[in-house]
Amino acid sequence: MENPKKVAIYARVSTEEQKEGKTIESQVNELRHYASGQGFIVVKEYLDDGWSGSLLDRPSLDEMRDDAKDLPFDAILVNDVDRLARDMAYLLVITRDLEGKGIQIIYRKFENSNDASGKLMVNMLGSFAEYEREVILDRTRRGKRNKVENKKLIIGNIPPYGFDYIKRDADSRVEGYYQINHKESEIVKKMFELVDKDGLSSREVVKWLSDNKVPTRNSNAKWSRSTVLRILKRTDYTGLAYYNKYESVESKSPTSAAKYKRQKKGGRRLRLQSEWLPIPIPDCKIIADDQFQRVQETLNKNRVFAKRNTKHEYLMAKLLFCRCGSPFLGCPMHDKPYYRCGNRDITFPQPKTCIAKSVRSKTVDDKVWATVKSIILNPDLLQSKLVQYEKHRQKQKQSDSTGAESIMRDIKRLEAEEARIFTAYREGVIPLVKYKKEAESVQNDIKCLKDRIALILPQQQARPSTERVFRAVSDLRDRLRKGLEVSDTDISVKQKIVRGLIEKAEMVDKTITLFFKIPVPVVNTTC
Ligand SMILES: [Zn+2]
Repeated sequence: MENPKKVAIYARVSTEEQKEGKTIESQVNELRHYASGQGFIVVKEYLDDGWSGSLLDRPSLDEMRDDAKDLPFDAILVNDVDRLARDMAYLLVITRDLEGKGIQIIYRKFENSNDASGKLMVNMLGSFAEYEREVILDRTRRGKRNKVENKKLIIGNIPPYGFDYIKRDADSRVEGYYQINHKESEIVKKMFELVDKDGLSSREVVKWLSDNKVPTRNSNAKWSRSTVLRILKRTDYTGLAYYNKYESVESKSPTSAAKYKRQKKGGRRLRLQSEWLPIPIPDCKIIADDQFQRVQETLNKNRVFAKRNTKHEYLMAKLLFCRCGSPFLGCPMHDKPYYRCGNRDITFPQPKTCIAKSVRSKTVDDKVWATVKSIILNPDLLQSKLVQYEKHRQKQKQSDSTGAESIMRDIKRLEAEEARIFTAYREGVIPLVKYKKEAESVQNDIKCLKDRIALILPQQQARPSTERVFRAVSDLRDRLRKGLEVSDTDISVKQKIVRGLIEKAEMVDKTITLFFKIPVPVVNTTC
């Protein structure tokens, strides 16, 4: 009888899903039930309760991936692709990592996920999960928007400095609102006066506040220029609050050193003024309109205009690598977008060790896009690539099996060696201590070889047939065709397609090699 499969359960719910009444317990129960139905033995359960699938750093996921090194389980059991990740790139990272360690991933809702079309399907489900994440975000966003736009309600309970937020009262059904905090609002008034009457700059206001030991709201924190500027620019003090003024973005320089963060987006960016939603808060007017206006003018005059930073879009960001192993970074030079090898950032403060030249990003992007497009749209080219793939597959199969055979021979030889040592001990030729030592060393070698075999064999089986790949690829082609027609100008659509298809690219001198996620062999293109 075959040994029962040892599995580890991985389950996750996000805080949003918790709000919708989804619990991690129900997920775990489903998985346990499924495991016992399949005759699996559950050796451990890894649960990330209240963690978003858009994050890669989740405590239990990390623990599971760390444990996987020692192969305490044969497979990971998860409910669905979106439980592992709601981000295509992360999904790939996780699956490659686990599969590389020889661990299978079993999706309860989706069997047969291990052949080529299954893998492609997993990728697609991953994209859908990513799409769904956007939809969920959008729904929450619209729900909040409705509250603001139609009901003119204050939402979010972190009020501006100077105000308190009075929470919604469930009994009287009075919605949440801002109330003047007298202590703080006096300081706000003083700050406006310092600029308006005394002509202080924002930096000087910071100095004044700290000289006079004015506490910040969080009394441990220090006044900073950005906090002061934010206060001086807030229309809330003139009785007009805005919702939707900022959008959350990934922080460029995360300040917290905490390893696990539930929020990926720590930074914020001002939206276009046309997107702001005004909410009148007349009871909170503490600054007169004309004074506010004068302060804005003074601040603008004081502002040193930073050189305009032209924003460029890079199709191959995070995908293109240099021969030195560093990623090429999108980086404008003389206001034109370039890809530059990231080597010098890694070796800094030592001088760079790579001499790769920077390349205009448009040249690279256009070339890559043309190649991707021609591969998807040209069945003949695809066919020839698949013929190459078939040859490659055959060769690989051969080398795999000769590799496996030679390892098997080595194992046999070591097993014979082990038997000889045992005989020597039994017949009193060597003492127990020596026997133990030698047997242990031989057994260790055998274990290493067996591990290697265990890695080679599934790889060999996982390499899909050419016909199946062809079918999967043409299926994908049909789906993408529509996207391709409209996407020639839209970088974000292009990015989605390229990231969905290309695992990574390498640029050596001017030759770019594309590595596809689907097992089409590498494609070279020169720019
Ligand atoms: Zn380099």
